Amino acid sequence: MGTPPQLTPQQREAALAKAAAARKRRAEVKAQIKSEELTIESVFDLAQRDEAVGKMRVKELLESFSGVGKVRAIALMERLNISPTRRIQGLGRHQVNELRLEFMKPDMATKPGRLIVLSGPGGVGKSTVAKQLRNAEDFWVSVSATTRKPRSNEVDGRDYFFVSDEEFSRMIAHDEFLEWAEFAGNRYGTPQRAVENALRQGRNVLLEIEIAGAKQVKAHLPQSILVFLEPPTWEELVSRLEGRGTDGAERRAQRLELAQEELAAAAFFDVVLVNDQVESVVQRLVELARN
Ligand code: 5GP
Repeated sequence: MGTPPQLTPQQREAALAKAAAARKRRAEVKAQIKSEELTIESVFDLAQRDEAVGKMRVKELLESFSGVGKVRAIALMERLNISPTRRIQGLGRHQVNELRLEFMKPDMATKPGRLIVLSGPGGVGKSTVAKQLRNAEDFWVSVSATTRKPRSNEVDGRDYFFVSDEEFSRMIAHDEFLEWAEFAGNRYGTPQRAVENALRQGRNVLLEIEIAGAKQVKAHLPQSILVFLEPPTWEELVSRLEGRGTDGAERRAQRLELAQEELAAAAFFDVVLVNDQVESVVQRLVELARN
């Protein structure tokens, strides 16, 4: 490090005044966080425009949230690999994302919704259940992005956002997914923002996704409820997969093999439901969200 620059008395005075103004600004922001006028999201936005906020230490930011003491702030920073002296402007995009998820706040006075993740082997009937839930009160069913080509009965924006491989890679690079996974040669991902917004507005959210993705969601959001949908019998699953006119023979065989592996994952889930009747599964999911 070189020697500090020699300042004239006027320059020194100006620098001190600037530092005092920055401290005052940070104190204001911290008070606004404490009183819940500012969310972590809005602080990150501010930090891009306001140098004083950008230079706030992450530790100070975290400790400003009610319920977060020194111990929790340090533990959180260790978990996210944030060095103790890091300032907001020095955070990586991934760390910003993790912090946003950690402090996801409901809108004022709105109880946040529940996040239910419905998973299970391909062909078990998850999408039929999800379709029915779209009409349920207070439920919002997430629409995933996929690189798979649309089937004849599918509508872009309703069943999936059908995107190119390049677009999917761009979305990964911009941290736009809550989770994503590869399944049977295609990529599938849950757009993060829309899920967060729905939860914040107090809506219950359903993700209908495969198992690796479900595990990622649980790791990010431990409060989510993982539901595993099982077929009544293995034979039933085989006949459903065989009967899928939308897939070719090779793809069906591939899916059967995958389904066998997937069935073994049930133990990881919070709740296991047998899909003997779609209506009763829907009912159970609505009850889970209420409790
Ligand atoms: P399909 O191609 O039959 O519509 O879906 C194949 C598998 O991908 C299903 O098990 C479905 O639940 C899963 N899937 C759909 N959307 C997503 C997603 O956003 N993320 C993950 N991980 N899996 C998904």
